[in-house]
Amino acid sequence: MNDILPKDQIWWDLVGQAGRRVAELHNFSFIETPLLESAALFEAGIGVNTDIVEKEMFSFRTKGGDTVALRPEGTAPVMRSYFQHQLGYFSSPLKVFYSGPMFRYERPQAGRERQFHQWGVEIIGDGDPVYDAAVILVCLDFFNEVKLKDIQLKINTLGCRVCRPTYRQKLKDYYRLRKSKLCKDCQRRYDKNAFRLLDCKEEECLKMRGGAPIILDYLCQNCNNHFKSLLEIIEDNNVVYEPDSYLVRGLDYYNRTVFQFHHPSSPQELGGGGRYDYLAELLGGRMIPGVGVALGLERIIDAVRGRNANIQPKLGMKIFWVAVGDQAQKSSLKLMGQLRRAGVIVGENLGRKSLRAQLKAVNRAKVKVALIFGQKEVFEGTIIIRDMETGGQETVFLKNLIEEVRKRLR
Ligand SMILES: [Zn+2]
Ligand SMILES: [Zn+2]
Repeated sequence: MNDILPKDQIWWDLVGQAGRRVAELHNFSFIETPLLESAALFEAGIGVNTDIVEKEMFSFRTKGGDTVALRPEGTAPVMRSYFQHQLGYFSSPLKVFYSGPMFRYERPQAGRERQFHQWGVEIIGDGDPVYDAAVILVCLDFFNEVKLKDIQLKINTLGCRVCRPTYRQKLKDYYRLRKSKLCKDCQRRYDKNAFRLLDCKEEECLKMRGGAPIILDYLCQNCNNHFKSLLEIIEDNNVVYEPDSYLVRGLDYYNRTVFQFHHPSSPQELGGGGRYDYLAELLGGRMIPGVGVALGLERIIDAVRGRNANIQPKLGMKIFWVAVGDQAQKSSLKLMGQLRRAGVIVGENLGRKSLRAQLKAVNRAKVKVALIFGQKEVFEGTIIIRDMETGGQETVFLKNLIEEVRKRLR
């Protein structure tokens, strides 16, 4: 699990603010669920035979005897909240977004931290493909907002209860003859979750996948229409996509649409999502259609920081306060307070007594303006304003300080 250090906050702010702005423009409301949920929620929702629940959940027993888990993903908690607070009553479909830490007990490696952050949106209560498209479009606006170009969208459908069993059988028939050549994980998956065989990254399994049947050949009429309409809508919106018949995603609750976003600079996908019309039922409710997405913020930030994005986040601080002498130092906090209440971010290094040391700090801070407050200025009720770009300086009365500073920051 990583610390997010002060030097990196500009990137988190940039991406975090972009996510919020874009979600709000698309009329999603913010929802925040607890980091800790009953483990059963994820077992029922994500599926006990998925990697997430089988191997990657941080779950433990509380002193009270409940089995809880740090949330590995955001959709099941949102659906829990949907039922608990009858959110469908207030808006149908419900459109919400979230942003925050998720936890998975994986072997730590670049791009797969055990605590990672996701931004996601959910549209719950409507099965129309226009909403699948809406979820894809809000993501593309997000990528656009953080100036990430060359985003690649892979898309597939997983069918429904009517057509999926036939395809699953065909898939099993295909793999049965080749079972001995599959990796250990896949041999296990064969019985429990055959779709995951398509998801395996082992070389032998990848090779075998090439000849596997694809679901498009087995879709029922409804699923076929749904997928066709979705593709028509995104084409209408000039979205470039790549059909990927083997894209399945690692969660049980998806049906019909699944999709993933990739960026050339990132070895893993930036995120993905899909339709989850059966999730509500798996959690013990009635059937409520839904569609959503989750994007990995660490991966997006890595991509944004990379060469392809021409973003130079601005520093907030433009003013640095320098005080020389005990008396000047003593009255500094009060005067700086006036500036801060006027909305000016003020830096300082007041613990250093010498002018030289403080000026060094001014240079490091790369500010536009330095205010220099010494013994003489205290006595006269003035302060020196130095323009750090031109080197010119001017003495002004303290009573005009805010006005004079504002004039120079304009
Ligand atoms: Zn179907
Ligand atoms: Zn495998």
